Amino acid sequence: MAKKIRTVTGDIHPDDLGKTMIHEHVIMDLSHVRQDDDPVLSDSEAMRTELERLKAAGCGGIVEVTNRGMGRDVKALSALSERHNLPIVAATGYYKQSYYPEEVKAKREEDIVELFVAELTEGIEGTGVRAGIIAEIGSSYNEMTEDEKKVFRAAGRAQKMTGAPLSTHCELGTLGSEQVQLFAEMDVDPAKISIGHQDLNGDRDEYERLLQAGVYIQFDTIGKNNYRPEAERLSDLLYLLDRGYVGQLMLSCDVTKQSYLKVNGGFGYEYLFTRFIPLLLENGVSEREVTTMMVDNPRRFLSF
Ligand SMILES: [Zn+2]
Repeated sequence: MAKKIRTVTGDIHPDDLGKTMIHEHVIMDLSHVRQDDDPVLSDSEAMRTELERLKAAGCGGIVEVTNRGMGRDVKALSALSERHNLPIVAATGYYKQSYYPEEVKAKREEDIVELFVAELTEGIEGTGVRAGIIAEIGSSYNEMTEDEKKVFRAAGRAQKMTGAPLSTHCELGTLGSEQVQLFAEMDVDPAKISIGHQDLNGDRDEYERLLQAGVYIQFDTIGKNNYRPEAERLSDLLYLLDRGYVGQLMLSCDVTKQSYLKVNGGFGYEYLFTRFIPLLLENGVSEREVTTMMVDNPRRFLSF
């Protein structure tokens, strides 16, 4: 059977995915953990305008990595996807220790495997909408807790059973090597793994170790210049492109707050298209390389 990309509105041919943001949040509610309304993204007037602008800027696909315990709402994602005619891939998974819902502690590894596989193959919470990626599977800052190890192992097993893509969260860019090591010990296909938030890492030796292992890495906090200055993020990406790793790099902004929306005065999802890609081109990156990172790599990674 030909490989497809599993979106919230059904399976699509890989060619039907355009320039894709590999790690985003569009519908999310983290107010229960953060005690604050800023990390609440909903299908609001502001979001409608934001997505119209994003589409006009050239976006042709979103990987929405909000998972269990993060206020995921796949029905709302389907409505958004249809309204904006924009493919959206939804996620199954658990985020990281400080955000885990109660159920993570109680579940055994095999229960979690079963849950992830069911959300990928049958549907999420009775909606019939299926997840198309196992994400964002996270470790804590320079530490992988016992519960996180359990979730990582379950994610690896669910990947092997389904062939689905799997992407991770590295807290401030840390522990990518440990994540890759864990998956390698389980014999998970590195071509179906993408390691997140690597633009916050900055260790070029570690970048090369990860890339040599065959996984993708994500520069996915583009626009969050308070986390890391743009010039540094850009310099690392240009370095990796010079070294010939274009086929293993994917980009995104990881918008997580209302205050990041363009309509609210933030950088907005469109920043990748209106600011960062032009900056790459000005710095000698070719249109072909941009297409590889934004189109070819997501199509290959997301297909199963
Ligand atoms: Zn995220």
